[in-house]
This record gives sequence, C-alpha cells and structure tokens, in this order.
Amino acid sequence: MAEIYDLAILGAGPAGICAAVYAARGRLDTLWLEKKFVQGGQIVNTYEVDNYPGMPGINGMELGEAMAAHAEKLGLAPVRETVVSLRDEGKVKVISTENNEYRAKTVILAMGAEHRTLGIPGEKELGGMGVSYCATCDGAFFQDCTVAVVGGGNVAAEDAILLARSCKKVYVIHRRDQLRAEKILQERLFACENVEIIWDTVPVSVEGKDQVESLRIRQVKTGEERSLPLDGVFIAVGITPNSELVRGVTELDEGGYIKAGEDGDTSTPGFFAAGDIRTKKLRQIVTAVSDGANAVASVQRYLMETEAQNSSGQS
Ligand code: NAP
Repeated sequence: MAEIYDLAILGAGPAGICAAVYAARGRLDTLWLEKKFVQGGQIVNTYEVDNYPGMPGINGMELGEAMAAHAEKLGLAPVRETVVSLRDEGKVKVISTENNEYRAKTVILAMGAEHRTLGIPGEKELGGMGVSYCATCDGAFFQDCTVAVVGGGNVAAEDAILLARSCKKVYVIHRRDQLRAEKILQERLFACENVEIIWDTVPVSVEGKDQVESLRIRQVKTGEERSLPLDGVFIAVGITPNSELVRGVTELDEGGYIKAGEDGDTSTPGFFAAGDIRTKKLRQIVTAVSDGANAVASVQRYLMETEAQNSSGQS
C-alpha cells in the first residue's frame, strides 16, 4: 500500500513555503509539490519588495530563496512535479502528477495566481518581441528605449519606477483618472521625470511586424484613438488564480478564486486554501505567509478531529 501523507502542499510561493515551514515544525509527514524550478511564486518577478517587515527593499528573487532555504533547513524541499489532477476520495485525497500518483489525508492549495492578459490584437503575436508581463525579467532589454506600462495597480507602478531607471521614456496607460497603487508607490512614480501617465486610456492593439513598433490607444472619454510609437509594452493588469485544477473539487467564486476564509477551510473537508488563490481582500506577501501558517493550523485541527472520529469508530 502506497504511503498516505498527512499533508500535501501544492505550490511554493510565500503561502506554500510558509505552510512547509509550519508543517515541518509540526512534524507532519508532508509532500510538497511545485511545478517551477524557482521558489517564491510571483515575487520572483518583483525587483524590489518594500513592504515585507524587516526586509526593506529586498529583491523578490532573494526573498523567495531565503524563504525556501528556511523550509529546507527544517527538512522540507519541494518535489519538482506538475500536478495534473486532484481527486477527493473522502478521507484520502489523490494527487496525480505527470509521472506519479500520491495520496494524502489533507491538501493545502497554494498554487497562487498568474498575470492576466489584455486579449487585444498583437498582444499574443508580439509576445517576447516587445510585449512582456515582467519588467524585472525583461526590463534590461529596453535600455534607453521608450516603453509603456499598462495598468494602475501596485505592479504597474513598481514596473514603471523600475523601467524609468534605464529607459528613455516610460508611459503609464491607465483606464481611469486615479491609480489603484499604494500612495507611497504613487509618490515615487510621480517623482520620475521620464514617466508620463496617460489617464482614461485603454490599449486597443499592439502594432508592429516582427517587433513592437507602437501601441494603439483610445481615450475612453472622447473615444479618440492614436498610435504611440514605442519599443516595448509591459502589461500589468492584475492576476488570475491558478485554480482550474480544483474546479469541481471545491467551490470557486465568479473570479475563479477558491472560496475560503482566513483559516483556509474550503467547502471540501480536508482541502485548505492559502495565499493569492483564495477569496480575500488584500493579496500581499504578508497575507500569503499568514495564510500558510493558518492553513497548517487548520490541517492539524482536521487531522486530530478525524483521528478522534476513527478511534471512536465513526465514519
Ligand atoms: P491589481 O491591483 O488588480 O491592479 C490591476 C490594474 O490593472 C488596475 O489598475 C486595473 O484598473 C487595471 N486593469 C485591469 N484590467 C484591465 C484591462 N482589461 N485594461 C486596462 N487596465 C486594466 O493588480 P496588480 O497590480 O497586478 O497586483 C496584483 C496583486 O498583487 C494585487 O492584489 C496586489 O496588491 C498584489 N501585489 C502585492 C505586492 C506586495 O505584497 N509587495 C506587490 C505588488 C502587487 P482599475 O484600477 O481601473 O481596476
């Protein structure tokens, strides 16, 4: 009979890593799976993390590595496998990867989220040829160039500030007349002399033959359209949860986020959600790590309750 783990953690972003730290300290027999070769989830795409207490200005990749090293020091490292399906068999959850099938009494779903796309003509066609979703990864290719960042959230503001250090000119294209980004980021952005914010404007299409040449934009109040000549477009219009795997296994909201509270409890006993993948108001690194810790506490409570039921002969 194959081993039945106490816990399977899916994902090695801040929520998954923190869950691994707490699971290791709780001496839970844990399987930890992550499809990527780097740990840290979305933070590895962040040049500078400035709101994680005690680590002002730390590079996202470094923070991810430091968190993962902490789990490893406690004896847990992720297995590099992609989960392809999940099955709930009541007391046992079956996790299938491309090569293996694992069994666990509980699962922490910490698969996080990925960047959203705009779905406009030229975006897909010119992906990697001037269209990017990661300023930290691709910004260096645009030294002394003119680029646009689309979006008005924290990521758009952070990306524009980063790009302004090496680009000649950075346009921020935002669909409203106010940014969503934190005020401190707005102040830093407004202080960049080579950044121009184009308000109330949406991108219509990315233009260019083999390389981005311009971005067609529309002023939403007047309907006026024009083409903005530039070399690159960075798209930062939010995230979408990586929850397709659990559609039908547990309840999702209309945005695809797993319905779960702060304790991580989902609508399916034995499944817990942590980090950006769950319904919550504030998606930050600090709230993700908090979720990881809470989810493990819920797992421990669930394991104790089911054990008590088993020993008293209940199903
Ligand atoms: P976000 O906060 O959801 O902002 C997305 C931005 O894109 C918004 O300004 C939105 O406009 C705009 N937008 C959305 N769809 C659009 C469309 N189709 N066309 C044009 N514009 C569109 O997303 P984010 O900045 O990518 O951040 C993602 C999450 O990560 C957030 O929860 C954020 O708080 C979190 N985050 C955390 C940290 C940290 O912990 N250090 C750092 C960065 C980000 P509206 O404003 O009009 O809606």
